[in-house]
Amino acid sequence: LTESEKSHLLAAIRNVPDYPKPGIQFKDITTLLNNPEAFHFLMDHLVKRYADMDIQYIAGIESRGFIFGAALASLLRTRFVPIRKPGKLPYTTISEKYSLEYGVDEVELHIDAFSHGLAHPRVLLIDDLIATGGTANAAVNLINKAGGECVEACFIINLTFLRGDEAIKKTTPVYSVLEID
Ligand code: AMP
Repeated sequence: LTESEKSHLLAAIRNVPDYPKPGIQFKDITTLLNNPEAFHFLMDHLVKRYADMDIQYIAGIESRGFIFGAALASLLRTRFVPIRKPGKLPYTTISEKYSLEYGVDEVELHIDAFSHGLAHPRVLLIDDLIATGGTANAAVNLINKAGGECVEACFIINLTFLRGDEAIKKTTPVYSVLEID
């Protein structure tokens, strides 16, 4: 994307200061979803990027990763699988724990998410934003544990000053549409 295209997209995303707690600037993508031109432009860009990468599954991280991931899966005619917080998926799951500043969290995937006869299905991971990278790194590990091959981790926004993509980059390519320093 050109710098001007990036700044148009960035302008469609609302900044909410001190949400959910003081000192955090929340990147609110609801204003982007509410802007048909910007949303279409973004999805069209992602379609162009991934159309020829032989993606077989798109895994979206709860919950804003579902929005972009499901839209992209339909456009690319690939399968979509949800990666969710613990206890949300109804069938048998596999899970991956990760540490937070205080305590641990977990992401889950249905055990049969990738069982459509492909030995090492090519999976694209998507979420709206990468901050510390804890969630996305656990999601990459989970995809690999489930027999998938995570071919790229894609984010609409990367808060690059947090260096959240460093751990993922050791094993998996990372693509961010917008970088915020
Ligand atoms: P992390 O595991 O620290 O990379 O956090 C990533 C998850 O938290 C993503 O699913 C984001 O949607 C959400 N998140 C973290 N920080 C922000 C922020 N500043 N604005 C919007 N969402 C955020």
